[in-house]
Amino acid sequence: MGHSRPFANVELTPCYNHRLMYVEIHLGDVVRLRKKHPCGSYEWEVVRLGADIGLVCRGCRRRVLLPRGDFNKQLKVIVAPAPRPD
Ligand SMILES: [Zn+2]
Repeated sequence: MGHSRPFANVELTPCYNHRLMYVEIHLGDVVRLRKKHPCGSYEWEVVRLGADIGLVCRGCRRRVLLPRGDFNKQLKVIVAPAPRPD
């Protein structure tokens, strides 16, 4: 895919750093996408799950919907998993 630095993500949380074909995400997770938002932010908060993934930009608070397939392709890493009550 033209990535010359395959280990660029090595600093990322290992348990989330598996293959991105199927990624388990949760409401409230903060994710980083490959494409930078025009406001300059890479980070998005997950606000809706389903066939489409709802995301709010952490830079400008703009809300977008991404089809899950597109989201999986765009997703680079989960920056901050949502706290899970148990
Ligand atoms: Zn933004």
